[in-house]
Amino acid sequence: MKIIMLGAPGAGKGTQAIKIADKYGIPHISTGDIFRQNIKSGTELGKKAKSYMDRGELVPDDVTIGMLLDRISEPDCAAGYVLDGFPRTIPQAESLTRALEERGEKVDYALDIEVPDANIVERMSGRRACPKCGNTYHVVYAAPVMENICDRCGAELMIRADDKPETVQERLDVYHRQTEPLIRYYRGENILREFDGTQELEKVFQDIVEVLG
Ligand code: AMP
Repeated sequence: MKIIMLGAPGAGKGTQAIKIADKYGIPHISTGDIFRQNIKSGTELGKKAKSYMDRGELVPDDVTIGMLLDRISEPDCAAGYVLDGFPRTIPQAESLTRALEERGEKVDYALDIEVPDANIVERMSGRRACPKCGNTYHVVYAAPVMENICDRCGAELMIRADDKPETVQERLDVYHRQTEPLIRYYRGENILREFDGTQELEKVFQDIVEVLG
């Protein structure tokens, strides 16, 4: 099963993507996580990505598309995957469609988690991330079992640079300008499914599982 997550930054798509990956036994592929790992280990790719990410802008397509297509060619992706944060532009979506078509494959579902901008800004201020494994939390809506400690790996949680309030508005603007058009694109492909992301995260997940089966 090949799944794409759509929705504004902070809509909860990362949390849902991890739950989907766990339930269906497929890898969770987050382009944001891949960039952050590359920044941490000081690779050329990381150097290219960092300045864009810190400003809340998108990393250019020529860097991002090749990286993602390489990742989904790895053996663990044979039975499918859930993409979190890719595609984010129409050229990215078109490249993915083309690359899959060449192998006689296609995306099964594009899941759009809908949350109004006002809620997003409030949510982002409570967001915490694990610097070690990339898992994300929220101090109110998805708190870790132990305050400020990652449930999965025990590392101390932090606020990501791009979750700072001044960057959040820029990321939302970028979302509306560059990523929202994908909703129409995938509706046209007949694989778009929309979810009310203002609900409890477990309820959103139940709704998703009903669609995925
Ligand atoms: P995320 O963790 O998905 O919110 O991504 C964090 C940042 O990584 C974004 O604000 C972008 O700068 C960059 N990024 C992640 N995925 C992509 C993508 N598909 N295209 C371009 N930039 C991306």
